[in-house]
Amino acid sequence: MDNSVVVRFAPSPTGPLHIGGARSALFNWLLARKYGGRIIVRIEDTDLERSSTESEENILESLLWLGLDWDEGIKKGGEHGPYRQTERLNIYAEAAGKLLETGQAYYCYCTEEELEAERQACMAKGELPRYLGKCRSLSAEERNRLEAEGRKRVIRFRVPDDENVIVQDLVRGNVIFESNGIGDYVIVKSDGIPTYNFAVVLDDSLMGVTHVIRGEEHLSNTPRQLLLYNALGLKTPYFAHVSLILGKDRSKMSKRHGSTSIEAYRSKGYLPEALVNFLALLGWSPAGEEEIFTLEEMVEQFSLDRVAKNPAVFDIDKLNWLNGSYIRKTDVGRITDLAIPFLREAGYVTGEVTPDRYEWLKMMVLSVQEKLEYVAQVTEHTKIYFDDHVKMENEEAAAVLEEPEVQEVMRAFRQKITEAEELTPESAKGVLKALTKELKLGGKKVYMPLRVALTGQMHGPELFYIIPVLGRDRVLVRLAQIIGLKD
Ligand code: GLU
Repeated sequence: MDNSVVVRFAPSPTGPLHIGGARSALFNWLLARKYGGRIIVRIEDTDLERSSTESEENILESLLWLGLDWDEGIKKGGEHGPYRQTERLNIYAEAAGKLLETGQAYYCYCTEEELEAERQACMAKGELPRYLGKCRSLSAEERNRLEAEGRKRVIRFRVPDDENVIVQDLVRGNVIFESNGIGDYVIVKSDGIPTYNFAVVLDDSLMGVTHVIRGEEHLSNTPRQLLLYNALGLKTPYFAHVSLILGKDRSKMSKRHGSTSIEAYRSKGYLPEALVNFLALLGWSPAGEEEIFTLEEMVEQFSLDRVAKNPAVFDIDKLNWLNGSYIRKTDVGRITDLAIPFLREAGYVTGEVTPDRYEWLKMMVLSVQEKLEYVAQVTEHTKIYFDDHVKMENEEAAAVLEEPEVQEVMRAFRQKITEAEELTPESAKGVLKALTKELKLGGKKVYMPLRVALTGQMHGPELFYIIPVLGRDRVLVRLAQIIGLKD
C-alpha cells in the first residue's frame, strides 16, 4: 500500500452518527493517514423518506468533533463531485441505460402483491426469498401491454446463473456466495432513484476508491456489488468488513448497553480523543499492551491485519475508565470550560462568569477532576459546595461527629481559619498540618470530623481543596452548625 490509497466514508443521513459508523469512519481515516492517501466523505441519501439535512449535519459535525477530517467530499468539494447521491442521478441513469442496452438489466413490472406471493412461496419451500425472474425475458409485446396498463417499472440486474461470487475480504479471507441464491435485484427503483448497491459501485469506482472498509452488516451486499463491477467492466476495490459491535451480553449493540450515538457522548462530556481511542479498540488490537493512544499514535500503529473477525464488545465501563484517565491528564481549564454548561444547568453557575469566578470554578473543578468519568458527573461531585445546610449522608457520618475530641478539633480549626491570611490549597495544607501537630491526635481524627462537618460525607475531594473552595465565610458557617450545637 502506498499513497495511492483512497478510502471513503459514505453515511446514510437517516439518523445521528452512531458508534458503528464512527468506527468505520475512523478505520478508513486511519488507513488513509497511515499511507498518506486520501479520504472522501460522501452522502448516501437514496432513501428519500428517511434522509434528512439534520442527520447529515449531525454526522459531519460529529466526525469533525472526533477529529476525523476529510480531504475531499461534502462541504469540501473536489474533482469527483457532487458528493450527495441524489445530485448524481444522471450518472446512475446513464449506467443503468448501458446495462439495459446490453441485456444485463431489464425492466420488471411485478406488483408488490406478486412479489410478496413469490417471497411466501420461496419460504414455504425452505428457500431464501428472492426474485425468481418473472420479467427476465418479457417480449416487446408483453412489455408494451404492461406499460399500457400503467404498471410501475423498476430496473433489475440480471444475475448470472451458477456462479460463485468470491469476496476477497482483507479481514475475513475469501467469503463465497452462490449467484443462484441472490436473485435478480433492483438497481433503479420505480421513481428513478438508484438502490444503494448500484449507486455505491458507481461512486466508489468513479471516485477512485481503492479500499472499502465498512461494517459486517454490508458483507451480504458485496457479492451484489461485485457482480455489478463485473457487468460494468470496472476495477474492484479491496474490501474489509469490520465485525459487528455487540453489547456485553453478546446481543447486538443497542441503547440498553449505552447510548449509540456519538452526540450522546459529546453531550455528557466525554472527550473526543478518549472516544476515538475507545472506538479504535472496537475491533482493532494494538501489538503491545498499551491501550491509550493519541490519533497520531494510532495512525502509526494501525493495520488491517490486526482487525479481528470476531465481534467487538462494547463495554461502557471500559469507555468510562478510558475517558476518566483522559480527563485526569487534561488541563483543568479545558475541563472547567466543559463543566460550566452542566453547572449552569444545575443552577450552580448563574450570570456572567467573571475572571475571579472562573478561577474559583477552576479550583472547584480541580478538586473533583480525578473522580470524573465524564464531565456531566461534575454536578454530582460538586454539590457539596452549594448547600451550606450540611446534611449527614448516613449514620456512620453522623457518628463521626459524636466522638469526644470533635469539639476541640472544630474550635482549634475555627481559630486557625479565622487567623489565616488567604485561603488557598497551599495555605489550607499548612493549616491542617499545624492543626494535627498542635492537637497531637493523628491525621484521621482531625481530617475525618472536619470533612464530615464541612460536607456531611466521609469521602470526597481533598480537604485542602474543600477549604479554599468554600472560602472562609462558608467554612465558618458550616463549622458553626456543629460547634453551635454544643456551645
Ligand atoms: N450508506 C451505508 C451506511 O450508512 C454505507 C455503505 C458503505 O459503506 O458501502 O451504512
